[in-house]
Amino acid sequence: MRIKKLLLAIATLTLVSATPVKHQFTAAEQQQISISTPGLFSRSNAFNIDLDALKPNEYSFPLPVGKATLRKNNVVEITTKDGDAVKAMFEGTVRLSRKYPDTGYAIVIRHRNGLETVYANNAENVVEVGQHVRAGQTIAIVGQRGGKFYCDFSIMIDGKRINPTAVVGIGSHRLHRHILLCEKQHNYINVSTIGEKVDFDDSKDFTTEDVFTKQSTYKWNLEEMKKGTWAYPLPGAKVISPYGGRRRHSGVDLKTKPKDEIVAAFDGVVTRSATHYGYGLCIVIKHANGLETLYSHQHKNLVKVGDKVKAGQVIGLTGRTGRATTEHLHFETIFKGRRFNPNLIFEHNSRGLQKATLTLTKNGGITQKRN
Ligand SMILES: [Zn+2]
Repeated sequence: MRIKKLLLAIATLTLVSATPVKHQFTAAEQQQISISTPGLFSRSNAFNIDLDALKPNEYSFPLPVGKATLRKNNVVEITTKDGDAVKAMFEGTVRLSRKYPDTGYAIVIRHRNGLETVYANNAENVVEVGQHVRAGQTIAIVGQRGGKFYCDFSIMIDGKRINPTAVVGIGSHRLHRHILLCEKQHNYINVSTIGEKVDFDDSKDFTTEDVFTKQSTYKWNLEEMKKGTWAYPLPGAKVISPYGGRRRHSGVDLKTKPKDEIVAAFDGVVTRSATHYGYGLCIVIKHANGLETLYSHQHKNLVKVGDKVKAGQVIGLTGRTGRATTEHLHFETIFKGRRFNPNLIFEHNSRGLQKATLTLTKNGGITQKRN
């Protein structure tokens, strides 16, 4: 059985390499930027990409000295200087290289790991369809628009743009050392991560602006929080196990009913949406003031890494994945990597905020004073 599979794999490989490279893309694939990748989800509706397995020379930021900004629709604008060379992010085969009336010259490279990378607004392309390129190889010269030199860069799976911050740090230009789990949903690709936690701090577009760059302490008067800027994570729940105690419980357990809607406590960015040991299906959201909230044991997660969420937005359904004996939400509040009692913020009986002011300090201190 194993040998049969292996032989089949070898046969498939031979078939692929024997196909004349120039003709491996259909006319539509050579014309359209967003087009599904044949066979990508034919065997399974999910696959993994281990970014940590890449060697340093197997990755390049498209414009290594450029300044990258994440714009709407998961496009990264990388601004740089006149004449700069655009580099291929990973090795792969050029699927599209042509001029569009609105975006100038564009290139799409199909990579063996299932990703496609898109480089648009080029002044000139220096590769052609079917050409194999190495990571870091020059593929185009950056183009100009409105006096600004930039490349519009995006990453696609099956013709759909994914959040590029799941793959690279927008500010740091670094490849994230983790595993991407890519799942096909009805009309989008869900990307979650396993391994190294994604640090979104380097992207100004996210609401993780650190209040401690200007000051060393931050007073957070919970009573001044306006309606809609906060939410009790599991509306209608009662506490079945408090924080701390003899078993040093790292959060508070909240219970309503199975598959009930869990909501984001505050606005923020999803930095984790994956299975994590005893936590089962887990979500971590990073908030503007350095605070993070964690939600676990979900039956289902409804957000993906990189999603911006609003306070009160439904992010998952209660379940008992991981180490859980009943359907509930295990909710944690974390500041500068340290867990603290969620009741410094929430008053569980009223499911409201405490009438208190929290003092957060740059080095991770958190104290509560009643108003
Ligand atoms: Zn718990």
